[in-house]
Amino acid sequence: LVVSPGVPPSIQILQSARQKGIPIFSELEFASWACRGSVIAVTGSNGKTTTTTLLGEIFAAAGFNTHACGNIGRPFSEVALHVDPKGVAVVEVSTFQLEGIADFRPRVALILNLSADHLDRHGTFENYKALKYRITENQTSDDYLILNAQDSEILRDNVATGGRKVWFTTTGDRNADAFVAEGDLYGKFDGQETAIIECRNILIPGPHNLQNAAAAVCAAALFDVAPATIAQVLRSFPGVEHRMEKVGRVAGVQFINDSKATNVDSVCYALRSIDTPLYLIAGGRDKGNDYRPFITYGRDKIKSLVLIGEAAHKIADALGRTFPVQFADSLEEAVRVSFELAHPGETVLLSPGCASFDMFDNFEHRGRVFKDAVTGLKHAAQENRTVSGKTED
Ligand code: ADP
Repeated sequence: LVVSPGVPPSIQILQSARQKGIPIFSELEFASWACRGSVIAVTGSNGKTTTTTLLGEIFAAAGFNTHACGNIGRPFSEVALHVDPKGVAVVEVSTFQLEGIADFRPRVALILNLSADHLDRHGTFENYKALKYRITENQTSDDYLILNAQDSEILRDNVATGGRKVWFTTTGDRNADAFVAEGDLYGKFDGQETAIIECRNILIPGPHNLQNAAAAVCAAALFDVAPATIAQVLRSFPGVEHRMEKVGRVAGVQFINDSKATNVDSVCYALRSIDTPLYLIAGGRDKGNDYRPFITYGRDKIKSLVLIGEAAHKIADALGRTFPVQFADSLEEAVRVSFELAHPGETVLLSPGCASFDMFDNFEHRGRVFKDAVTGLKHAAQENRTVSGKTED
């Protein structure tokens, strides 16, 4: 049986298959049998899609026959036969897929970071991390494991691998293979430190995206991609829809769509990435989250929480003594309420920290509803020239 990543291993048909001794593989494992090119596998709790897409752009710009695939929407099995022996498949890999591997052996594996997610499916954080670490279980000394030198879980667990470890950081630690010093992003090419780009010229915003860029530098350097090529892509890569996506301003209020923030850590990075006072639209289907880290990163920024969905009351219970709370029955209402409260120069951020399935088909649907609501406000502002006493921007 080849199982799609969305199918839980506990369902009856898979239990029966196991009892009958029928082999069960994930689609990732199955596709890897057919791929003759190099596989770069990207996992982590956050940043997988952004880094996979970025690496796809870098390798394509460097002239490789490149296929960015996996969890990003294009299945690995759809492209595996098209990767030529000198080509590269950059594959976004989830824990759900790693659960069903046997011989999967990426030439380069990346673990971007580790924070609690999907505990509803994996039970404990330890189980979840153990599944992530399976990405390296078949690697040998010809292979590489790229790791985040700033991630306390990764450091503490001292991940065992048969491959060679390569490190990235956005601190000034020059022992790492990609690092940031004096405002520049550096990589090591054949052991030589090389400044690639000034961080302020990297288009994707925020401290988390700098980490994604550093991780990408490590992988690109292993394939001798020229620093100038990496720099050229980092200057122009706009990021991926629904990840800290700037939707526009209405009456001086900035709207940001971070619908893909489906866990607590990604919301914390969103909060760190924004410098203005903000209204945080959060909530949806809870995955066993502890929302208190919002306090650390949002204390001086969040002017009000605007809560939606099934998790609204759980979030309010955790944070209601720290922040003002509004409840909204729909995302459209949450956008309206936030806009009513916001002043010019402030930000309305959709960064839910929860899954979307209680109210939407998926996070993309949630992001589109948010953007449509903002477009509605823009039109109303254009018609009236003033909305809620704010002049149109
Ligand atoms: P994934 O595919 O792992 O879910 P995405 O690139 O789709 O990652 O980003 C998901 C969310 O996490 C977005 O809200 C994004 O802003 C945030 N994010 C992206 N990169 C990182 C990172 N390195 N660390 C923490 N959060 C991140």
